[in-house]
Amino acid sequence: MKRFFEKTRLNPDTGCIEWTAGKLEKGYGQFCLNGKTVRAHRFAWEQVHGRIPKGLQVMHKCDNPACVNIDHLAIGKNRTNCIDAVLKGRHGTAVLTPDQALAIMESKLPPKATAKALGIDVRLVRNVLEKRSWKTLKPGRVPLSKRKYRPINPNGFPTPTEGKHDD
Ligand SMILES: [Zn+2]
Repeated sequence: MKRFFEKTRLNPDTGCIEWTAGKLEKGYGQFCLNGKTVRAHRFAWEQVHGRIPKGLQVMHKCDNPACVNIDHLAIGKNRTNCIDAVLKGRHGTAVLTPDQALAIMESKLPPKATAKALGIDVRLVRNVLEKRSWKTLKPGRVPLSKRKYRPINPNGFPTPTEGKHDD
């Protein structure tokens, strides 16, 4: 376990513990254990919760495939369900993506309208605005070209940025 965490790095902006050694093309961390290839986030989850039940997957609530932070991992049937639930704020511990947190900080709309525009629970918006979450994230530090969403426009809708995203 010690060797495992030597290959990780804490991202102070997101709280993600990112795998820095070998990565698969989709960004998942991987390493070799007893001659078998192991996915880092699955390994991390199993250290705490035991074997992953058959047919279930370990998913990232933070949408960061390299992340091995136990608090950011969830188990479920498939990825889409989980992401959907997180975005709608149904999970008590839902984690916003950095893009969403930035959009909230830069929104000129009231919290309720911001929540509606992003399709999330208003409590998540208040957490960011009242600095209970994402305290260290500074809007100026992430260029617009690197984001999935531009700041929410006056009509109340985030506009997807153009071009490809590495996600
Ligand atoms: Zn994470």
